[in-house]
Amino acid sequence: MSSFRYSDVYKVVYPRRHEGIYKNRGDNPWVSIRIRQGVGRDPSKWFSNQLRVIAEISRTYGDGRAMLGTRGDIEIFKVDFRLFDEVVAKLKEVGLDPRDSCGNSVRNPIPCASQFCPYAHINAEALSTFIGDYFRYRSEYEQPLLPHRIKISISACERACAVPVAQDIGIVAKPNGKFDIYLGGGIGEHAFSARLAFTDVDAEDLLPICVGVAEVFRRSGERRGFKWVVRLRGLDKVREEVLAIAREVKPKLPKPPDLTPRFIKSRIVKIPYPTGWLPPMNWLSWPMWLIGMGLAMYCCSIIKAYTYQSARRLIGLRN
Ligand code: SF4
Repeated sequence: MSSFRYSDVYKVVYPRRHEGIYKNRGDNPWVSIRIRQGVGRDPSKWFSNQLRVIAEISRTYGDGRAMLGTRGDIEIFKVDFRLFDEVVAKLKEVGLDPRDSCGNSVRNPIPCASQFCPYAHINAEALSTFIGDYFRYRSEYEQPLLPHRIKISISACERACAVPVAQDIGIVAKPNGKFDIYLGGGIGEHAFSARLAFTDVDAEDLLPICVGVAEVFRRSGERRGFKWVVRLRGLDKVREEVLAIAREVKPKLPKPPDLTPRFIKSRIVKIPYPTGWLPPMNWLSWPMWLIGMGLAMYCCSIIKAYTYQSARRLIGLRN
């Protein structure tokens, strides 16, 4: 691989990073490919046929590893850059596509686990698919027109498990059916906590505001990220600019899907569960505690008998 100079290959790879490529360091052709669900698919759901293909590709083209990323992607390593298009063609056959998962692009909007959570006011996965799909393959929101990446998260309740304060755009659903939107967060060397920019936003205004943010950011040309636009211009000015664009683009944008959560009006039930070795104070929990202790003692006696027999066999006292 000595004919590959890092500086040369990097120049070729860098303009294509938004297609899902990260270049390995050193004089070699290796790249990592970060794989994302295809358009119209829930970003947080993976299917067995897709996982099989990823495993096969990683074994055949890469070094056999596959890593789950923080934004719902799967990354494979050490793929020869010259075979990148071949790998992408194989991924597309099972509805996967790495495009817009690296470089300057609008990344996978990450939903909280609302499908499994009874606290959810909305279906965060459906909203994440809707917003993510809008930005997918739009060259105006990709390298080189977008100066840096944009990260979005969606939390289905005010507990905010999708960490809105660390995102460029953090959407949080409220019990009254509306949303709060935080802007300008980000981690890294200069970490900023996102600030509440919009409150009581309707569902149909979420995408226009996201487009407004992307437009303000794109026109700013700020290569260090949207957090710096908020920092340097101030939240009030950015809010005004975003709103002006959102109002303008709203009539042309698609309407959000049905966001009804899975656990509608479900109640949170706390199950008293006896733990530890001490008997519980609540007499109602005594039967469960006794059954648990009985089972534990039974298992211990089996393990003890097995160990005793094995030891005897080992020292030759028994065949
Ligand atoms: S943000 Fe709310 S709905 Fe989403 S996983 Fe956390 S607690 Fe559940």
